[in-house]
Amino acid sequence: MSKPQGITVLGATGSVGCNTLDVISRHPERYRVVALTAHRQLDKLFEQACRFRPEYLVVADEASALALQARLASSGVVAEVLHGPEALIQVATLPQVDAVMAAIVGSAGLPSALAAACAGKRILLANKESLVVAGRLFMDAVRAGGAQLLPVDSEHSAIFQSLPADYAGDPDASGIRNIILTASGGPFRSRSAQEMLNVTPEDACRHPNWSMGRKISVDSATLMNKGLEVIEARWLFNVAPSRIQVAVHPQSVIHSMVQYKDGSVLAQLGSPDMRTPIACALAWPERIEAGVESLDFFSLSDLSFEKPDLQRFPCLRLAFDALETGGDAPAVLNAANEAAVAAFLDGRLRFVDIAKVVEETMAGVSAAASDTLEALLAKDAEARRFAEGRVAAC
Ligand code: NAD
Ligand code: MG
Repeated sequence: MSKPQGITVLGATGSVGCNTLDVISRHPERYRVVALTAHRQLDKLFEQACRFRPEYLVVADEASALALQARLASSGVVAEVLHGPEALIQVATLPQVDAVMAAIVGSAGLPSALAAACAGKRILLANKESLVVAGRLFMDAVRAGGAQLLPVDSEHSAIFQSLPADYAGDPDASGIRNIILTASGGPFRSRSAQEMLNVTPEDACRHPNWSMGRKISVDSATLMNKGLEVIEARWLFNVAPSRIQVAVHPQSVIHSMVQYKDGSVLAQLGSPDMRTPIACALAWPERIEAGVESLDFFSLSDLSFEKPDLQRFPCLRLAFDALETGGDAPAVLNAANEAAVAAFLDGRLRFVDIAKVVEETMAGVSAAASDTLEALLAKDAEARRFAEGRVAAC
């Protein structure tokens, strides 16, 4: 038997990170955890370190690193504890690492995911913000580094599985007419604009079908998540935005579809459980046990589809606008959204003002042709500052 693959899990303590470790734990003969990273959840990271015995652990700052080191020493677990953004890059590019799960939330996940691309790793990409902020740069780095990029976002995993196995980024050559991203519609799908005025972070994070981190849960409630996914799909599959459609499908059974020129539609179906796309990316082209129940067709009452309502959910329209503007406009959209969502989760901004802050930031921070990581991160910082000003004015 071949030796186990070395894996780094960036964002190990999050929702995707924990699901990844759940899948990995089912296959000790296939995978060996080399590094785990977390920002602030030291208790969870400590438990994971005891269970998976990685060589490296990464936390946010020196104080957290010292605290974690002390706990590890008293429990006999040997691991090197590093801290800060440079350490994320270090563990994403170690020679003994074959695959990197990029599951940090937000543009904070970009530098380490990009470093993994440049180092030619197999990248399991959950961090959609990497492609939203730096789509062209990221895809160029994947090609130049000889990396393999596998989507973890459930919709993109579904599209990836529905494309021809030899798809080389040319939709016409593969007879593709459209890509259809499905969206659950989130917890406020049937609420009026008036009814959304006073929703709380707890309401917004109560997703009907998926259990996820708080930021993506709010994004799902505003439909910004679908907007970010449209941008992600544009880069992953090299399809023009005009060929990407969004269909609200409240049951979250069909995870997305590819429509071909001959009228065929190929879709991927499954229970809404992230362990399926995670296992798919980990083992591709093989299939492994993920701990997910089989879909029970006889308990499905209905599969329905609606057009998204861009009046009530303007964030989806703003994402298409950012793609049309081009350059670093998607980075501005993303930074403004991260700032607005954080303010909403802190109780400093109303839910309905998230879209307003994003729109005002896109109008106030002009797009440019940023094509380096430094320029894109500078734009991200500028847009965040601008958005914070708009939050304060709301
Ligand atoms: P989460 O909030 O549950 O976890 C985020 C992880 O990132 C944690 O480990 C946290 O410690 C770490 N982190 C946060 N800020 C950081 C920083 N500044 N520097 C370093 N590490 C930091 O998030 P999640 O729901 O697991 O989502 C992770 C990513 O996966 C997001 O980009 C999200 O859009 C994407 N995604 C998530 C799901 C899901 O089901 N949760 C589905 C599809 C895509
Ligand atoms: Mg998704």
